[in-house]
Amino acid sequence: MRYRSTRGTLDAAAPDFSDILLSGLAGDGGLYMPDHWPHIPRETLTSWRSLSYADLAAEVIGLFTEGSIDRDTLRTMAHDVYGRFDHAAVAPLVEVEDGLFSLELFHGPTLAFKDMAMQMLGRLFEHVLKQRNHHVTIVGATSGDTGSAAIEAFRGREHVSIVILHPHNRTSEVQRRQMTTVLEDNVLNIAVEGDFDDCQDMVKAMFADEAFRTDCSLSAVNSINWARIAAQIPYYVRSALALGGPDRPVSFAVPTGNFGNILAAWVASQMGLPIDRLCVGSNRNDILTRFLLNNDMTKRQVEPSLSPSMDIQVSSNFERLLFEMLGRDPNRCRAIMEEFRQTGCMAVPHDAWEQIRETFHGIALSDEQTTDTMKALYAESHYLADPHSAIGLAAGRRFHEAGVPMIAAATAHPAKFPDAVKKATGIHPELPPHLADLFSRKERYDVLPNDIEKIKAAVRTHRGR
Ligand SMILES: *Cc1c(COP(=O)(O)O)cnc(C)c1O
Repeated sequence: MRYRSTRGTLDAAAPDFSDILLSGLAGDGGLYMPDHWPHIPRETLTSWRSLSYADLAAEVIGLFTEGSIDRDTLRTMAHDVYGRFDHAAVAPLVEVEDGLFSLELFHGPTLAFKDMAMQMLGRLFEHVLKQRNHHVTIVGATSGDTGSAAIEAFRGREHVSIVILHPHNRTSEVQRRQMTTVLEDNVLNIAVEGDFDDCQDMVKAMFADEAFRTDCSLSAVNSINWARIAAQIPYYVRSALALGGPDRPVSFAVPTGNFGNILAAWVASQMGLPIDRLCVGSNRNDILTRFLLNNDMTKRQVEPSLSPSMDIQVSSNFERLLFEMLGRDPNRCRAIMEEFRQTGCMAVPHDAWEQIRETFHGIALSDEQTTDTMKALYAESHYLADPHSAIGLAAGRRFHEAGVPMIAAATAHPAKFPDAVKKATGIHPELPPHLADLFSRKERYDVLPNDIEKIKAAVRTHRGR
């Protein structure tokens, strides 16, 4: 399988899966896409009903790694990764109301859906780096879930150093401790005296410094890395098969920020999985729902909400859907994205918008509506949902049609957001056993000023440790 950029042409030296795994973003600023969608025949889908989660994941991801990583290697990785999840089904389906299901994606080590893909990325990186006898430094900024998922996936890995920047005193204590109590030598946590945007600006500045980037072999695992999208497809396939697919369609509802999770569901449909509706749930940062309702993709100020992992105004992965809707024309895609960067307003052509609306639906919830949903889910169904998952379930309720199962992605464990859950339901959600002693574990992190030279020096020293 060869890859191409959403902003460049398909050339003869097109990168393969291993190349794009390590580089993340394409050199022209675009996002990598497979040069075609692998098709899964109906009989194959039917035969996959009996596979374990790990075996199914290896089959699906293997369609994107052809020529780079073979099935047996993937199967070994997947068994290792998903065997450590704390639910035998890995991603269990819970029927919350008649025909409305919660697909629980939070049974991994850091209690958020990011683990589903990031854990595989840890193994994939190790495999490719060992093969190439290469070492990279992963650098990232986090406001919460991504940092802990990445640290958990790369802790102790021989060929990787990882540095994660978080804003000092601005993450929740659970989130901070999930990162800072990891004490392996290859992990460096930096608390920056600034906010999340300062952290993100510093990561961008490090990547923009060609010499520093090469010198430290910088690498990124943020949600635009195609490998993360690929590793998110299996749970859509598996849950659809569990509810009658491919003989009948299902619909999905997904609490959305960067558009990575729901994009994976859409990719599954391109590969032949019958899907009826794809429903986006947003919080007050509602750029995607405004787009779906009125073709209004205007960037506004990010506002904090009860669901912080969705406090985003630019959904980076949307570019991949746009590219497809433009008939894979990289020149049009580049022009639209460039204009968006300059004006803060994305002019999506009317026919592309209409095409997207045939499948995608959107709803935005205020914090009050989110709390009311959590309360109602608990009162009516005894189901405890975190604020993100509640938004997914609300979107599922809103767009549920009779006869088509609606599957809502539950993206975080309620114990990750205990205050919001307690306020809505009166219940204090307990951390699962493997994290029960989180608050008594030793922490290690450096507090550094909001100064790029100091941060770069720390990254260099960490790399040379
Ligand atoms: C990252 C995250 C999301 C948003 O997922 P995207 O792929 O960015 O759309 C939703 N909920 C939780 C809990 C997350 O961590």
